[in-house]
Amino acid sequence: MQILDGSFVSAHIKEQIKQDVINWQAAGGKKPHLAAILVGNNPASEAYVGHKVKSCAELGFESTLLRFNTDITEAQLIDEVKKLNENDDVDGILVQLPLPEHISGDAVILAIDPAKDVDGFHPISQGKMMLGQPTFLPATPYGIMLMLEHYGLDVAGKHCVVIGRSNIVGTPMTILLSRNTNPGNATVTLTHSRTKNLAEITRQADIIVAAIGKPKFVTADMVKDGAVVIDVGINRIADATKKSGSRLVGDVDYEGVAPKCSHITPVPGGVGPMTICGLMKNTLLAARQKASVAAE
Ligand code: NAD
Repeated sequence: MQILDGSFVSAHIKEQIKQDVINWQAAGGKKPHLAAILVGNNPASEAYVGHKVKSCAELGFESTLLRFNTDITEAQLIDEVKKLNENDDVDGILVQLPLPEHISGDAVILAIDPAKDVDGFHPISQGKMMLGQPTFLPATPYGIMLMLEHYGLDVAGKHCVVIGRSNIVGTPMTILLSRNTNPGNATVTLTHSRTKNLAEITRQADIIVAAIGKPKFVTADMVKDGAVVIDVGINRIADATKKSGSRLVGDVDYEGVAPKCSHITPVPGGVGPMTICGLMKNTLLAARQKASVAAE
């Protein structure tokens, strides 16, 4: 069994991005600038945004973190997004999800200028992805594709079962895996909360991508010998042995499943760091595209 080490791969890719930024600046380009919006102080969201801002500093990007209280209205938040759209110094915009219940995430994402949509959540980005046109890919599925590519895992013709159909992970994952690209060309089954006989389906999978949000949901009896297992889940569970009283686990029961796999991602240190790579690559791309449009 080989661990798919997202921390290692992301460090390698980040080095490349850092060098790309140095070269880009040497050629007269300006620092890529990512603006992040955080509403409220949900601890998980704080941690995710914190990692993104830290990565910007490591890679020579500029970053701006805009924080708002949970009493901000949808209209006010959309105005803030519009200000970032109009700010010529900003290349990429991300709105950390989830937003408070009174704010429609869809409406806020729709307000982002697609040219700055570095999370790849805007309908224009998603539509282009579906059509196989160049665009910003959603950061998590993009990061998973980068990981598959790094390890040279054979995806073509394989049966991939994706568990979870969210717009930001499960559904775009099925599109990327099935595209006529390398990696890609897989035969993909999308499963979800209404899927019947899930274990029967996952047992047929050469590759499983678990994006459910339920701790240790995928158990050993759901996985065939030699499968590749990609665990997207990030769940905090109680653990009295830890100083903090809790720890992170994925959607896969790692201890039970890992011995059966050919490859598996750990949590933490698997998909999470790869998501940041996807975001950073998108932000550099946004900066380059903006500069080339300005030069026309
Ligand atoms: P979501 O809640 O939007 O979607 C969960 C999906 O799981 C739904 O489509 C639902 O149909 C499916 N599901 C629920 N119960 C099921 C069941 N019993 N059987 C089959 N399918 C079932 O979640 P999401 O935003 O896609 O996130 C999924 C997980 O991935 C979460 O733990 C989240 O924290 C994590 N996540 C991690 C990263 C990362 O960078 N590692 C990024 C995004 C999300």
